[in-house]
Amino acid sequence: MIKFEEMGFTPGILKAIQELGFEQPMPVQDKVIPLMLGDERDIIALAQTGTGKTAAFGLPLVQATDTDTNVTQALILCPTRELCIQITGDLTDYAKYTGNLRILSVYGGASIDTQIRGLKRGVHIIVATPGRLIDLIGRGVVKLANVNTVILDEADEMLNMGFLDSINEILEEVPESRRTLLFSATMSSDIASIAKKYMNDPVEITIGTKNASAENISHAYYIVHAKDKYKVLKRIADSEPDIYAIIFCRTRKDTQEVASKLINDGYNADALHGDLSQGQRDTVMQKFRSRSISLLVATDVAARGLDVDDLTHVINYSLPDDSEVYTHRCGRTGRAGKKGISISLVHLKEKSNLHQIERLLKRTFKAIPIPTGSEICGKQLFNWVNKLEAVSTDHQEIEKFLPEIMAKLESLDKDELIKRVVALEFDRFLDDYRHGEDLIDPVPEKEFGSRKGGKRDSFREPNSKYTRLFINLGKMDGFFPEQLIELVNTNTRGKKVPIGKIDLLKGFSFFEVEESYADDLIKVLNKATFLNKSVAVEIAKEKTDGPGRGDFPRRGDSNRRGDSPRRGEYPGKKSGKWGDRKNGRRDQKSGRRKMYTN
Ligand code: AMP
Repeated sequence: MIKFEEMGFTPGILKAIQELGFEQPMPVQDKVIPLMLGDERDIIALAQTGTGKTAAFGLPLVQATDTDTNVTQALILCPTRELCIQITGDLTDYAKYTGNLRILSVYGGASIDTQIRGLKRGVHIIVATPGRLIDLIGRGVVKLANVNTVILDEADEMLNMGFLDSINEILEEVPESRRTLLFSATMSSDIASIAKKYMNDPVEITIGTKNASAENISHAYYIVHAKDKYKVLKRIADSEPDIYAIIFCRTRKDTQEVASKLINDGYNADALHGDLSQGQRDTVMQKFRSRSISLLVATDVAARGLDVDDLTHVINYSLPDDSEVYTHRCGRTGRAGKKGISISLVHLKEKSNLHQIERLLKRTFKAIPIPTGSEICGKQLFNWVNKLEAVSTDHQEIEKFLPEIMAKLESLDKDELIKRVVALEFDRFLDDYRHGEDLIDPVPEKEFGSRKGGKRDSFREPNSKYTRLFINLGKMDGFFPEQLIELVNTNTRGKKVPIGKIDLLKGFSFFEVEESYADDLIKVLNKATFLNKSVAVEIAKEKTDGPGRGDFPRRGDSNRRGDSPRRGEYPGKKSGKWGDRKNGRRDQKSGRRKMYTN
C-alpha cells in the first residue's frame, strides 16, 4: 500500500495528516486519493461511513483549492446538518497548514442570515444540505459559476431523505465542466440514474462488497417475544459492561419509551428523535459524544449523520422496514477499521425480514442465545474484579482515613470482606437476576450452536426439579413457545408457572415445567383446546439430558411418519388410548411413561 508521503501531498497537508495521527491511508483513501490527485475523472466510491472517506476526498480537495482567489471552487452536498459540521471540521483540520482556506457549512435549522453573511464574505468550499442550498440559491447569494468539484457524500442517504429533486436542481446550476464525486454506502437504481445523468464516464470504486457491510462488523440476532424485548435489551446492556451503543427504534414513541425505561432503570441513556428541538438534540448528542451517555436510543432519521467513533454496538430494537436502512445503521459501528457488532432483536414473525437483510449484505447473521442471569452476573463481577485489580490506591486524600477504616473492619477476615464488597456492588444485578426468571429463547437451543458447557445455566435452584411433558401440538399447528406460554398462562389464570426448556417439533412438542406444578398443569391443559384442537399433555419419559431420542419416535418408527401422534398413538404406547389408564395411572408394565389423570 502506498504511503501518504508518496501520494504527492504538499508538506503542509502531510503535516496536518501527521498531527491527526493517520499513519497509513485507509483502503478508500488508497484508491481515491491517487485518482483525485492524478487526473480529472469522475469517481463513484461505494463505501460505508466510518471508512475514512472524508479524508479520501477532503485531503486532495484542500490541496487543489486555490486560496489566492475569492471564489467558490468546490461544493460538498451531504444529508444532514451534523455531517455538514463534521465535514467542515475535518476539512479545517486538513487545511491547518495550507494558508487561508475558507470553508462554510450551510444547513437547515440554523440562522440563514448568518449563513448569508458568511457567503457574502466569500468562501472557497461550501458544505451544504441540499434543501438549505436551494433556498440560498433562490435568494441569489450563492455563486456556483466557478465550482470545479462537486462531491455528493452519503448520496443514498440524501435520496432516502427525499433530496433527489433538490440534487438535480443544484447539479443543473454548476458548470458542466466540473468534476463530480459520488460517495454512497449502497448502489441503487436512483444512484445509478444520477450518475448516468450528471457524471462523465466515472471510475467506480468499491470498498468491500457492493451493498455489503464492512468485514469488521459482525451481525447477530436474538429471537425474542415482543413482550420480552425490553428485558432482552437490558440483558445486552448488563452483559456488556463497557457498552457504548446506539439503539435504533422505528418510531419516535418507541424511542422515547425505551429511553425513559432505561433511564428509570438506572442506565446512562437518552433519546434522540424528531420531537426534540434542535437545541435538545445538540445537547443529547454532545452528551453521547462525551460519553456521559452510553446508550443512545434513536430513530433512523434523527441519527443520520451522527458519526461517533468507537461505538461497541449497534442495537436494532426493531428491524427497519427497508433493508438498506440496516446497512446505514450497522455502519455506525466498526468505524476506522475497528471491530463492531450489530445486534437485532427479532420477533419470530420478522425472520423473513432478517433473511432479506442477510441477502442484501451477503452476510450470515448469527443467532445467539439470550444471556442468562448467571452469565450476566458473572461478566459484571469479573469486569468489576478486573477494575478492582487495576485501581490505583495512590490517593493521599484517602490515607488519613485509612487507620480508622482498618480498625473498623479489623474483625472481618479477607473472605468475608471480599464477599461484602462484592455484595455491595452487585445488589442490583444479583437481585434482578437471582429472583428474576430466565427468559426463554423461543427457538430450540440447537439453533444457537453449543454454549460453553453445552447447556444453558441459570439461576434455577440446583436441586429444583423440572418435569418434562409431552404435548400434542407442534410447529405445524402454529404452536411456538409464545403460544405455549400463552396456553399455560390462560389455563392457569396467570399463575406464574416456571417453564424450562422447550423442544418444538413438527407435530408435537416437549416442554419442562417445575415439578410441583406438573400435575395441576396436566389437568388443566387436558381440558383445553388450541385453535379448535383438543390439547393432550402427559409426562414424557424421565428426562436425563438433552431431548432424549427415546422421548419421541425416530423416523421410520412404525407408529409415526413425522406427524403428530394422534390419541392412542403416543410413542411408547402399544395401542393404548387415553382411556388406557388404571386408577389414574397408566399401566406401568405396558408403557414406558408414567401418566397422571385429571
Ligand atoms: P470518515 O469515514 O471520514 O467519517 O472517517 C472515520 C474515522 O476514521 C474518523 O474518525 C477519521 O478521523 C478516521 N480516519 C480517517 N482516515 C484515517 C487514517 N488514514 N488513519 C486513521 N484514522 C483515520
